[in-house]
Amino acid sequence: MKTNSRFGTLCIHGGHDLDPLHAHLTPIYASSTFVFDTAEQGMNRFTGKEKGYIYTRWGNPNFSEVERKIAALETFQLQDKEGKALQAKALLHASGMAALTTLFLSELHAGDKVITHLSLYGGTDELLQKILPGLGIEAIIIDMHDLQQVEDILKKDSRIRMMYLETPANPTLRCVDLEACIDLAHRYHLVTAVDNTFATPYLQQPFRFGADYVFHSTTKFLNGHGTAVGGVLVGRDIEKMEQQVTKVYRLLGGNSNPFDAYLLTLGMKTLELRMERHCSNAQQIAEYLAQHSAVEKVNYPGLDSHPDYAIAQKQMKHAGAVLSFSLKGGLQAGITFINQLQVCVRAVSLGTCDTLVSHPASMTHYGVPREQREKSGISDGLIRMSVGIENIEDLLEDLEQALQHC
Ligand SMILES: *Cc1c(COP(=O)(O)O)cnc(C)c1O
Repeated sequence: MKTNSRFGTLCIHGGHDLDPLHAHLTPIYASSTFVFDTAEQGMNRFTGKEKGYIYTRWGNPNFSEVERKIAALETFQLQDKEGKALQAKALLHASGMAALTTLFLSELHAGDKVITHLSLYGGTDELLQKILPGLGIEAIIIDMHDLQQVEDILKKDSRIRMMYLETPANPTLRCVDLEACIDLAHRYHLVTAVDNTFATPYLQQPFRFGADYVFHSTTKFLNGHGTAVGGVLVGRDIEKMEQQVTKVYRLLGGNSNPFDAYLLTLGMKTLELRMERHCSNAQQIAEYLAQHSAVEKVNYPGLDSHPDYAIAQKQMKHAGAVLSFSLKGGLQAGITFINQLQVCVRAVSLGTCDTLVSHPASMTHYGVPREQREKSGISDGLIRMSVGIENIEDLLEDLEQALQHC
């Protein structure tokens, strides 16, 4: 593999090792355990003197290929302090939530605190607020747009160990300034981690701004086809990743499986192509919706009306493919709109080739009281779209006919 390949080439070839039997694609290594030639070899593998697989909870060739691919993309064209190509190590997990669990339990202990912001992914928010407090780990949730307030808190509280960021974030696609937040966190010796799921390394590289960890739910754009749930934790401190983090990863048992890793490897080959089309479709849809008389408001960081337009311009290549908008007609309009769709698919999740549309008030947040929903930006008429890579004309026509009923 050429060391200076471009991004789209790395998506295809990055992380691949020639198969010992010369299969073109890495076969699915559906094997829980691996054979030692001799007792000595077993010993050397266990002590790390010899590279090699032992047991699939600890590692598997299908995991390794996609881990190397993701690490190569997240560090693409970046350099370390000495000007050498930046290195990172990735660990593939069964889900995004499993990767987050490894992150938090590797870095945080009883008495530590995490500082983070509003409107995190629902599962992350619940992990921080419902599970970690039971282990003596507390979350401080504030608005990261007011950095003076963040600094005042950091000054006063030496137990804050980690800053956790997610950008862009649901449902209003708010973005946080990675460079400013990470600089501030490092001045106070915090570990920093960024959820890069919505952006992918094609649009945004948190390591560029000095992040210590990058996290993805690979279920979304990296897989790209909605075929498997997965998550990855990528760290720049190789030694820490190989020791402390690997230990937690192996013992918690949140590993992926060979088939899902294989599907992820296949899906990622087209990441650059897909993201270009996803983003150009999303930009056109956002602009179309913004001028529609049935639409009250569009949330998309690629529109200059979005409060974080400037931040997105600064740190992202394009503004991504997730957007939300509110219908003037409220709850009933939301339900009608969703039911009228013929091309777009009614489903939660995001990042697939097909456009997924959901209506939080009648789906994910149906049981949540209206007041509480509105606090997190979910009005009755809010529609969330993960824009796919279909032909744009078909998407616009589908939206047009559905909006006529609202
Ligand atoms: C889906 C998602 C997660 C959780 O990942 P799973 O793969 O569902 O466990 C975390 N963060 C973001 C932004 C997500 O979209």
